[in-house]
Amino acid sequence: MDIVTEPSVYLVGRTQIDQAAVRQFLDDENADWVTDGERGTELLSELAGRVCYMSFGEKQGRRSNEEYLQNIISMEHGSVLEHVVWNFVVTGVSRSFSHELIRHRAGWAYSQLSQRYVDEADARFVEPPVIASDPELHALWLDSVRQSHEAYRKLSEGLAQRIEREHPEWKRRDKRKKAREAARSVLPNATETKIFVSANARALRHFIEYRGAADAEPEIRRVAFAILQIMQREAPSLFGDYRVLELNGASSTHTEHRKV
Ligand SMILES: Cc1cc2nc3c(=O)[nH]c(=O)nc-3n(C[C@H](O)[C@H](O)[C@H](O)COP(=O)(O)OP(=O)(O)OC[C@H]3O[C@@H](n4cnc5c(N)ncnc54)[C@H](O)[C@@H]3O)c2cc1C
Repeated sequence: MDIVTEPSVYLVGRTQIDQAAVRQFLDDENADWVTDGERGTELLSELAGRVCYMSFGEKQGRRSNEEYLQNIISMEHGSVLEHVVWNFVVTGVSRSFSHELIRHRAGWAYSQLSQRYVDEADARFVEPPVIASDPELHALWLDSVRQSHEAYRKLSEGLAQRIEREHPEWKRRDKRKKAREAARSVLPNATETKIFVSANARALRHFIEYRGAADAEPEIRRVAFAILQIMQREAPSLFGDYRVLELNGASSTHTEHRKV
């Protein structure tokens, strides 16, 4: 049986800036915007904020992109952070993780592996490190997951045969779907899932704060830390205010600007 103990977070996309269109807008408005921003997502966020006050040009001062966006964050002008979106694929995570993840609604989009369409006969299973590190508990976990997986395979097979007898006229794809959607009821929370996730900067900040906190569940915390690391490289002007603090032996994300 294939066991996973580490999540994988792949950053696969991000909002792009159209420099020519931005230049056209600035020319049409006789605005002269000078910024030291280099990344499209950070430039777009600054532009969104500046459009609110049409604050382009010398007399607005020469704040760096980072100073400008950190000021937006400290003012809690949070809607400015909703324009840019990043796309991730997350794998090596359990169905219990994904159930917690998808509770985050505002500013998020999800596309998750379907257990109705995809055969879980070769599924991988996510073992919590706290169980994996204890030989006795690991053996108990393994035994339980193996039994559930075996039951899934047998149910899937048995249901497929029954559907074949009762509904030979159904399309092959529908027959398999009907068998899998019922058989999956015995699969454990530990079953690995894969999920495509998109979120804007404001939503990601909220997630990092809630799920990177010391009392959050360990698996989602690891994903929150992985996303924080990625975002601090990707958009330091938008995520540079986070620190990781050690609190009572557990690391926790911290910012002075919570829930912007
Ligand atoms: C440590 C921890 C333990 C948890 N335990 C449980 C548990 O035992 N049981 C459980 O069911 N859940 C639990 N949750 C999940 C939690 O209740 C939230 O569903 C989850 O964290 C998503 O947060 P959110 O609703 O703020 O996020 P989002 O849905 O992304 O919303 C972001 C923000 O937008 C605003 N917003 C979004 N939708 C609405 C709305 N409809 N009306 C008004 N304002 C809105 C709110 O300000 C909200 O904080 C837990 C979460 C954590 C971090």
